[in-house]
Amino acid sequence: MQYHIQTTPVWDAFRQKDGCPICLLYERIENRLVKQYLGEAVMEPDYRIKVNKRGFCTRHLLKLYDGGNKLGLALQINTRTENIIENIGTTANAKQAKKLAEKLDKTLDTCVICDEAEEIMTRYCYTVAQMFGAEAEFPKVFSESSGFCMPHFVRLLQYVSYAGKSAERYAAALTAKQLETLKKTNSDLERFTKRFDYNSADKFSGATDDAIKNSINKLKGKIITD
Ligand SMILES: [Zn+2]
Ligand SMILES: [Zn+2]
Repeated sequence: MQYHIQTTPVWDAFRQKDGCPICLLYERIENRLVKQYLGEAVMEPDYRIKVNKRGFCTRHLLKLYDGGNKLGLALQINTRTENIIENIGTTANAKQAKKLAEKLDKTLDTCVICDEAEEIMTRYCYTVAQMFGAEAEFPKVFSESSGFCMPHFVRLLQYVSYAGKSAERYAAALTAKQLETLKKTNSDLERFTKRFDYNSADKFSGATDDAIKNSINKLKGKIITD
């Protein structure tokens, strides 16, 4: 059942040819979760317990802040802060202070949205492998896609075995795609640097304007959007 629910968004993301397709899937999930945590999750006791315990990471707190529901966000932060207050207790000496620091340090950037997104992304990463083995048209769409950011390339490598009998073919296609895409962004970057060389005979158009952005997003995932 899971398999078919997952395939439509994967087809869409790979056909879009707009940077890493796994980043596109992540963006979709992240937007849905941010909306959910500002909407129905605010009043749901189950969600509230999770937010109490895990809170939100820096990235997602900022996304929630920009999410256009200040009341919902205030309630979420309120419940999380109450939990933090309970966990601080009292400290009377250096040893206790250090122990408290160790305990709190582990809770500083935990996040309910990251937890849920992570689970869904894992499913997507092995669905891509399954599709490579099961869908006749998919290998072609895969090889014509934009290639992956490095974090998602690593994730996809971890699930190659899900391609079953096609695992060897998939491993080779995945690695070849990634090398091709990295060489492409790197060559754009080199062309970009040559534009600053006064003596260079090459006079390039604006085609390499996005070279730095594309290279950063290739290395780190889609962190620059404009
Ligand atoms: Zn990515
Ligand atoms: Zn997060």
